[in-house]
Amino acid sequence: MLHFPKPANEVRGRYAPSPTGRLHVGSARTALAAWLSVRARGGVFVMRVEDLDGPRAVPGMAEAILEDLRWLGIDWDAGPALGGPHGPYTQSERFHLYEAALDRLHGLERLFPCRHSRKDLQRLATAPHGSSGLPPYPAVLRPSDLAPGWFDVHRNGGADAALRFLVHDRPVAFEDRVHGAIIEPVHETVGDFVLKRRDGVYAYQLAVVVDDLMMGITEVVRGEDLLASTARQIQLIEALGGARPAYGHVPLVVNAGGQKLSKRDESLTLASLRAAGVRPEMLVGYLGYSLGLLPEPIPCTPAGLIPHFAWERVSKQPWRLPDDLAMVLRTA
Ligand code: GLU
Repeated sequence: MLHFPKPANEVRGRYAPSPTGRLHVGSARTALAAWLSVRARGGVFVMRVEDLDGPRAVPGMAEAILEDLRWLGIDWDAGPALGGPHGPYTQSERFHLYEAALDRLHGLERLFPCRHSRKDLQRLATAPHGSSGLPPYPAVLRPSDLAPGWFDVHRNGGADAALRFLVHDRPVAFEDRVHGAIIEPVHETVGDFVLKRRDGVYAYQLAVVVDDLMMGITEVVRGEDLLASTARQIQLIEALGGARPAYGHVPLVVNAGGQKLSKRDESLTLASLRAAGVRPEMLVGYLGYSLGLLPEPIPCTPAGLIPHFAWERVSKQPWRLPDDLAMVLRTA
């Protein structure tokens, strides 16, 4: 059964890494901002491993990421191994909860099966592609009536179809702590979106919403690349009868060439920096500086940054890293 804890008086934030690659400077910076926002107000910090997509999750990577975060000086009050009141804290152990959420949405008639492939949808596109990189799902493809019992057939593996969430047609408005007021007409930009893929994998949008609600999360701090998912998540939160958290999307870090960090930026993982002799306080001070919290990159612990933290100070621009970050951090 889905049960959302009563809204807490305390701040509850989280960091939710996907174990697909080593933690790089950009993710560490986001984790630091999420941690500071919680710790500056004496809140609870939750760590959650988002290993939904089995084949993409690299074995041992979750532990490696958590170890990198510990090395940096970030701690948490609930998480994998540690446990906590709203566990488990690893998504692959929470599939029954995602099923319960699908059940609720089915009861509310907000779910339908869809057999169209990405290719079909691309072909049908009449509007420019939305924030998901795909054309908005055309409302004409919504089934006009569904056979009674279709959901059970689907659940028992008898339907080769994805499950889509039926969006409403009112624009979603929310306030982001970095980006200000945002309004997104999800029905026009994305349309009905997938909650469970045809191959049985639960969509990030579903899992993240169910987990944030069930873990009593009051603020979501994450990278700016997920700003485009927020309006969709708010529609889902409201359909499930939950309360929406506050949002803060931290601007991204780019490499010296101005591109988003990728697997190729191997030298910018915490593991590489550490191997190159960088001390955690140097990196934390540098990240605090890049976030706009310190006037210069002086060595600092995460706890030492707490008095300097305020959302109004957090820089709104992407941060461009120097060519040889390890050298800069070793010699600073
Ligand atoms: N697991 C997602 C990522 O690593 C973050 C999800 C979230 O914070 O909502 O990009």
